[in-house]
Amino acid sequence: MSVGACIVIQLPTRRLVLNSQPIGEIMNNITSVPPTPSASSAVIRERIAAIGQLGIAYSDDYLVWQLGDGDGSHPTNPMRAQLATSLLVAELPHAASVEDPTSVDRHLVRAAIESVHDLDFVSRVIDDGIDVAWTGRRTEMGQTAMTMFAGTMLLTHAMIARNITVGFNPQGAKHHASSTGSSGFCVFNDMAWAALEFATAGLRPLYLDWDIHAGDGTQSLLFDTEIPTLSIHNGAAFPFDGMTRDLTRAGTRHTRHHEANHAFNWCIEDTDGDDAFAWAIGEAMSVIDDYRPDVILVAAGADGMGGANDLGMRNEYSYSGFQHAALAVAEAATRWSNGRVLIGGAGGYQPLTHTPRVWANVVETVYLEVNR
Ligand SMILES: [Zn+2]
Repeated sequence: MSVGACIVIQLPTRRLVLNSQPIGEIMNNITSVPPTPSASSAVIRERIAAIGQLGIAYSDDYLVWQLGDGDGSHPTNPMRAQLATSLLVAELPHAASVEDPTSVDRHLVRAAIESVHDLDFVSRVIDDGIDVAWTGRRTEMGQTAMTMFAGTMLLTHAMIARNITVGFNPQGAKHHASSTGSSGFCVFNDMAWAALEFATAGLRPLYLDWDIHAGDGTQSLLFDTEIPTLSIHNGAAFPFDGMTRDLTRAGTRHTRHHEANHAFNWCIEDTDGDDAFAWAIGEAMSVIDDYRPDVILVAAGADGMGGANDLGMRNEYSYSGFQHAALAVAEAATRWSNGRVLIGGAGGYQPLTHTPRVWANVVETVYLEVNR
């Protein structure tokens, strides 16, 4: 499963038409949003050839992940993964290396999943095709959950082998999944596995989650380890558990830390925007600087982005807010981690507009800054 050769492959050419809108039209709309200033710099573009590659885990098999009515109308429409990948390939043409998660041996993928999840739960999803994330018996969904997990495996092993410094799995960071079951559209917790795998390889991982929903599953899976978990989220939004917020203060800005277990939570208010995001990022950077990780895992959810979305989120982050967060991660990774950052997409409910653009901007910023 090594990606040592870092072969740049062509994106699959399957023509997709979801929501009755051709992908070309959707791309035109997304690219009309300004990319990050650094990504558009001709100087940096020239320099890309001289620095390492950006590993992106993507397969068209991700597109099988259709929840709800299965017609692309669900807010987690997986086309956001294809669009983000397309943006990165177009904007970092000499750097982006698209790696196929279906190339990972399926027995190894299953063994990895079973190392962090209850065996009965795994069997129910993979063998029986049954899970609360969908209705009925859908073995193809269980297989796709495996493939998404495999994407993170591929990048983790490439980073351990030091073939890449920055990896991005747009269908990674399934942060609500716990040891015993799926939750919030997350089935298998790839980032908890990756953190443990990095630790086993002798690295010092740290997990940072800025999805607008708490990284509760990842926190629970890593709670009894030495690996820090940091989550920045809306304290009044799903999941409504007391481990990632103070339930008596859910609607106010507050923290819910478990310092003995290296678990940190910054809860913002329901309509907070970039100011609150920056406050929490600043606090998280203090924890990161104290810990000095040598690999940073990021659940880079785009669902705090302002604008209409189909899951009723009301936070008001902007492109500037995400840019600030990405720069902070890049600076920390430069200080402590030799630039090593593994990024999972996590949530984002404007799949054909803001979500792929936010993800691409974050990945480009981290990649370009750690290679500056
Ligand atoms: Zn979310």
